[in-house]
Amino acid sequence: MSAVIEERWAERLQHSSNWSWQQVSSNTIEDITVLAELLQLDANALTKISAGSEFKLRVPLTFVSRMQAGDLNDPLLLQILPQKKEHQLAPGFSHDPLDEQRYNVSPGLVHKYRGRVLLTAAVSCPINCRYCFRRHFPYDQNRLSQDSLNTALDYIRDDNSIREVILSGGEPLLLNDRKFAQLLDKIESVPHVKQIRIHTRFPVAVPQRLTKALCERLIDSRAQVAVVLHANHPNEIDQQLKHHLAPLNNSSVTLLNQSVLLDGINNQSATLCKLSEKLYEAGVLPYYLHATDPVSGTAHFRVDDNQARDLVHEMTNQLPGYLVPTLVREISGRPAKTRL
Ligand SMILES: *Cc1c(COP(=O)(O)O)cnc(C)c1O
Ligand code: SF4
Repeated sequence: MSAVIEERWAERLQHSSNWSWQQVSSNTIEDITVLAELLQLDANALTKISAGSEFKLRVPLTFVSRMQAGDLNDPLLLQILPQKKEHQLAPGFSHDPLDEQRYNVSPGLVHKYRGRVLLTAAVSCPINCRYCFRRHFPYDQNRLSQDSLNTALDYIRDDNSIREVILSGGEPLLLNDRKFAQLLDKIESVPHVKQIRIHTRFPVAVPQRLTKALCERLIDSRAQVAVVLHANHPNEIDQQLKHHLAPLNNSSVTLLNQSVLLDGINNQSATLCKLSEKLYEAGVLPYYLHATDPVSGTAHFRVDDNQARDLVHEMTNQLPGYLVPTLVREISGRPAKTRL
């Protein structure tokens, strides 16, 4: 292990609480040997399980800082480590099991559910989650240029049954504060849009992304705003996140969380209960617990449906109802997510 690398990163981490979010997210690790050194992992053991991938390793240092050094089974590490298992073929798993392309009504816009549309505001993520159901999404064809944004807005304006616009990803908060505010301006200019929802993992990966300007813009929206975070394990929630959520907590913005149920990461009721409790301490309510979609490369994360139901049942026995997320799966062609 190179003490030099370790020292360098340790020093950077120490100062990370003062960084701007751009600095933090550009301090992203994409090299497995650096990750191994940082986490003091046994290089041989790591080589045995890890593998290269087109969907490359990408993790911000702020997320790495919440991992346990020396633990190859760390639940945060397993969410971002490209593994050999991903290359095993699994029957029934494909690139686009949700058939999202069928509902891709214009570039960057998916209209699948009644009353709400999903706008892919940015085409990459600051963190690459191995279980991502959009890991094969043709982002390049869905880049939201000025033209395609205008086309999407025309579509929204022409259909007054659309009450909610959901900004999803990629990662909507990759837009800088100014561009993000401009996007909200445009959406808010459509009178029948009453709700704006932002689905984002960025604040969990990099809490500093919740800048003062961003929070103020969300609070000032004329629409009802909900921010749906995406955390899967209690270790992802720390003081930094709580601190950066505080302005939104003291406002009319609704804070929710969705998780993905992942084998070897959070498929224990104690872990899921702790996640709900830590979210609530940070002012966030659990919304969905997703069963994984059959996306190629993710079969090893799948939890059996019966085990999933048992887990939620156990949660129900231990927590107040408002801390129990709804267990859902996305089934192609259905008019809403399916409750399991
Ligand atoms: C999940 C999802 C939504 C929102 O569904 P809710 O049940 O309202 O959270 C909208 N569009 C698409 C394509 C989705 O996958
Ligand atoms: S943040 Fe969300 S969209 Fe981005 S890689 Fe992770 S799961 Fe996928």
